[in-house]
Amino acid sequence: MAEKVIIIGSGPAGLTAAIYLARADLKPLILAGEKPGGQLMWTSVVENFPGFPDGVKGPDLMMKMIQQAERFGAKILNEDVSSVNFSQVPFTVSTSNSNYEAETVLLATGASAKKLNIPGEAEFLGRGVSTCATCDAAFFRDKSVIVIGGGDAAMEEALVLAKFASRVVVLVRNVNEEEMRASEIMKKKVMENQKIELLFSREVTAIRGDTLVNGVKVLNKLSGSEEEISCEGVFVAIGHEPQTGFLMGQLDLDEKGYVASPDGVKTSREGVFVAGDVQDHKYRQAITAAGFGCMAALEMERYLDV
Ligand code: NDP
Repeated sequence: MAEKVIIIGSGPAGLTAAIYLARADLKPLILAGEKPGGQLMWTSVVENFPGFPDGVKGPDLMMKMIQQAERFGAKILNEDVSSVNFSQVPFTVSTSNSNYEAETVLLATGASAKKLNIPGEAEFLGRGVSTCATCDAAFFRDKSVIVIGGGDAAMEEALVLAKFASRVVVLVRNVNEEEMRASEIMKKKVMENQKIELLFSREVTAIRGDTLVNGVKVLNKLSGSEEEISCEGVFVAIGHEPQTGFLMGQLDLDEKGYVASPDGVKTSREGVFVAGDVQDHKYRQAITAAGFGCMAALEMERYLDV
């Protein structure tokens, strides 16, 4: 028999929706992904989620959300969704294990770190290349590292790394600090940090190494010359992209590839809802994702007329 609700994704958006929908006795099925919990599973302390005056570890926060959803009757399967069929009701959601059917579906798959797609990046991932300083900075104690990117995430990566590494070089493709996308406060913190050096007009063209990373090849766009910078770690922080591959054209996406939604919760397909970073490229916070999850759940209850 078809489920009333399937939630795809298990970050703050999906789990908040699950708590609301479970409390409405809709017994939501959460297809949580093989690595449940979303991006907060890769962060250390979260200091800006209300209710935790001393901060809370990202994985602890997510475990509490999972427990809270389960307590009210949500079912969680740690499976990755490979495709969906929204052409008829009940909708079908497929994983490598099974096909699941539901009257309504919530998309809450979030976003993942963008890649440079340059030689060496995939090869050395986990062997010097990382997209998460909070997760990996401690491995680079007294080592020299590169951060790529000029937004707030890159600045934050650099600041986290500076607590461990001996030297942090941030390679920015813009010509100067005014052009950089990062906020003034983050730029200031970075520029005041003695361990961090910002290099502008630089484009990394390859990541070098043998078994581990030992340097990057860089194009200096001002002089046109190629440079080699030696380092033991490369942190790629050039933004995020929504996890929408499994949708395969079944819903409207916006010009940036995020799920298009007029109100942050409804999609172009009636009965299919969205919440969190897979739709929101502006705020991208745990608390805003949770808020959207709540809004989506209330709309789903209304749609199911319960
Ligand atoms: P952004 O989109 O803000 O910045 C991406 C950066 O990466 C830009 O500098 C961009 O350069 C650069 N970039 C993109 N593609 C490439 C490439 N192929 N090669 C080299 N550089 C590239 O993403 P963020 O993840 O930094 O931030 C996203 C949002 O999250 C923002 O709203 C940010 O404020 C917020 N955030 C806030 C934090 C905080 O306040 N502590 C921490 C982290 C994120 P260009 O400008 O030339 O396009």
